[in-house]
Amino acid sequence: MDFELSAELQELRDTVRRLAQDKVKPRAREIDKSGEYPADLFEAFRQAGLLGLCIPEEYGGSGAGILGLSLAIEEVAKYSNAAALMLLLTRLPTGPVMIAGSEDQKHRYLPGITSGDQRAAFGLSEPQAGSDVMGMRTRAVPDPHRPGGWVLTGTKCWMSGVAEADWYTVFAKTADPQSRAHDSVTAFIVERRWSGVEVGRRDHKMGVRGVDTGELLLEDVAVPSENVIGEVGGFRLAMLGLNSMRPVVAARGIGLAEGALMYATEYVKERDAFGKTIADFQGIQWEIAKCAVDIEAARLLTYRAAWLADQGKFSKEWVPYLSAAKYHATELAVRASGLAVQLLGAAGYMEDHPTEQWYRDAKQLTIVEGTSQVQLGLVARGVLDGDLWWD
Ligand SMILES: Cc1cc2nc3c(=O)[nH]c(=O)nc-3n(C[C@H](O)[C@H](O)[C@H](O)COP(=O)(O)OP(=O)(O)OC[C@H]3O[C@@H](n4cnc5c(N)ncnc54)[C@H](O)[C@@H]3O)c2cc1C
Repeated sequence: MDFELSAELQELRDTVRRLAQDKVKPRAREIDKSGEYPADLFEAFRQAGLLGLCIPEEYGGSGAGILGLSLAIEEVAKYSNAAALMLLLTRLPTGPVMIAGSEDQKHRYLPGITSGDQRAAFGLSEPQAGSDVMGMRTRAVPDPHRPGGWVLTGTKCWMSGVAEADWYTVFAKTADPQSRAHDSVTAFIVERRWSGVEVGRRDHKMGVRGVDTGELLLEDVAVPSENVIGEVGGFRLAMLGLNSMRPVVAARGIGLAEGALMYATEYVKERDAFGKTIADFQGIQWEIAKCAVDIEAARLLTYRAAWLADQGKFSKEWVPYLSAAKYHATELAVRASGLAVQLLGAAGYMEDHPTEQWYRDAKQLTIVEGTSQVQLGLVARGVLDGDLWWD
């Protein structure tokens, strides 16, 4: 067992740490306030070669894998979860393409993500179908005019980066819309410029502002056969894509928790009360210690999950390890940001400090890409099935 990062990954982490301190930290509050997409940070990430971390070299990426991407996100999320989300979006919609896409699809769609010429988003959720994805109503019917082609109609919602995206990975029912069978759902690549594709309502969010979230409207969108990802009826691909993303979302949580705890620790070392500093009180020290232990536990779970995903271990038997990381790290983000507000007292509740923003941002993480309850269900299934077992 080796707990050391490779020299390349250590260098990557150090580079992103500096970039996050120099460029992301000073912009974080402003992005949250204005809600405007931080094009300057996208450009900084592009110049630093961070948009292709998880994309293999043959498609223009750097091949740093899920672990490389998670390390970068951890650094950026110390200051801004919106900026971290921009990096996450280089993997969420491209994941299914990398896992099951054709060579043609990989060559057509991945290099643009790496170079920053294109952006993508991921459409699984619908207003009536979040956790219960099989309840989706977006429909794909065979195109009478193009052999092998499909015509998509429906509404996807809460889609991160929907307005900025040039193409979308979209899931739709290719069989009976009432069917709950997994082979009734198929993944497609849909381009924004195609007829019938529109961005609908944009959501007003309590946190992670700056990267938009909203609806994608599809009305009789003709999708050619070469844009079907994997097999028709390959819903399993959605789950494989999401399983492999668990460490990436978890990294947003550990970065946020680290940023919040470091900030609050600096504060309590300076804040006087009762003739001492607040940091001198054992009650405060134990809270800091518990949070620090929690962060280290989450980092170990997350790095192991990323390591598993990079080895292609994200099928059912590995799910409990991947889901445990997402569950633990994102719940930790909520606890740590709450603690940071508490340690600053009234100051932590005011906009003068970033603590109130971390508190608002953290909550998103326990909802997206499978809620905490869904992750607990997956871990439980793993234990009940003996995939997570200790003898
Ligand atoms: C900021 C943001 C960005 C998002 N970005 C994207 C995106 O880019 N693409 C995309 O496709 N989706 C996206 N989503 C949607 C997200 O994936 C869903 O919100 C999530 O899957 C939960 O679905 P829901 O909101 O419909 O909640 P529901 O499924 O309605 O769940 C409501 C509550 O019930 C609980 N619950 C549901 N089922 C069970 C169960 N079986 N057992 C116990 N508890 C249960 C849930 O845990 C939750 O607490 C985003 C959401 C947010 C908030």
